[in-house]
Amino acid sequence: MSATPILAGRGITKNFRGLTAIDTVDFELHQGRIYGLIGPNGAGKSTLFNLVTGYYPLSSGEIRFEGKRIDGVPTYRLNQMGIARAFQISKPFPAITVRENVRIGALYGVSGPRDVDAVTEEALALTGLTGIAERMSGGLPVGNLRKLEIARALATRPKVLLADEPCAGLNPTETSDMMECLRSISRRGIVVWLVEHDMRAVVQVCDWIYVLEAGVKIAAGPPQEVIRNPRVIEAYLGTPMTENGEEA
Ligand code: ADP
Ligand code: MG
Repeated sequence: MSATPILAGRGITKNFRGLTAIDTVDFELHQGRIYGLIGPNGAGKSTLFNLVTGYYPLSSGEIRFEGKRIDGVPTYRLNQMGIARAFQISKPFPAITVRENVRIGALYGVSGPRDVDAVTEEALALTGLTGIAERMSGGLPVGNLRKLEIARALATRPKVLLADEPCAGLNPTETSDMMECLRSISRRGIVVWLVEHDMRAVVQVCDWIYVLEAGVKIAAGPPQEVIRNPRVIEAYLGTPMTENGEEA
């Protein structure tokens, strides 16, 4: 691909004392696409997201956003530039409403002029939370908490949204709901990068999948190619899959 990637990493490496959690990984994210990041537990998926979002410094390598170096840039600045992250464990402020939690994202996101009310309502609508916007955030069922986490990230008006296991603990209906939500976010022109264990969901929603094993990128490509890759089958999938991502 010739266009400048919106987000790219080259030779990314992260050592924790004796452990190389991420080992010379390259990636490129381009406009208009949904990306997946898969691999066994402990493969380094969350660590890679932590590096991209400035939570950890790189041991070596470089990261570029719209062509400019961003490794070493603090997380809050990356948020202002347009990189948002939805966490695996959602921790909204419990004693305020869903709408107010989303509004906080709208107030503290990408710098520049915006209509905070309009941004808030759009994020609520895109995640299907408008109907419960006046509910208190504490005690929401997990499906709604996950959507709230996405809505808060979305309200910062990102160009790239990283979502770490947004479907963990969700039932099949909630999972396909979340995937539909990520699709509509993508249709708004936001690049989505998704860590997800549900292969059916990954195969159906992603345009391109990165596969990590023990910190090493062992495969990258379109879903249909990745699920047929013998190395991916051995390291992660266990059994071959049909083209829908179901076990063959
Ligand atoms: P995944 O998200 O793919 O399950 P992680 O990125 O959480 O994997 O972890 C990758 C490896 O890095 C694991 O061996 C984990 O124990 C280690 N690791 C992650 N964060 C830290 C940290 N802050 N300090 C030391 N080791 C870490
Ligand atoms: Mg993880």
